[in-house]
Amino acid sequence: MIIPEKIKIGGHWITVEIVGDKELSDDLGSYTNWCKAIRINKTATTTTQIETFLHEILEAIVIIYEVKIKHQDLTIISSTFFQILRENNLDFKEGV
Ligand SMILES: [Zn+2]
Repeated sequence: MIIPEKIKIGGHWITVEIVGDKELSDDLGSYTNWCKAIRINKTATTTTQIETFLHEILEAIVIIYEVKIKHQDLTIISSTFFQILRENNLDFKEGV
């Protein structure tokens, strides 16, 4: 699976769940800090799920580290980062 079931950010384990439309009130994804959980809408396309996953990782970083950033700027960064990682096949693993 491309999207892992958990991810570590700054010393916190964040669970990642792929959930139905209704659980997200028709949103693509969410990050909930009190329970350290990212949720992704399973009705979205695979590429949209991955882009949303990166977006929610940035949301978690912004909340955990109290980064001051406008949501629109966060969205531009996550979308662009998604495109750069994917289209340049970047995984930073040596010898794989
Ligand atoms: Zn957002």
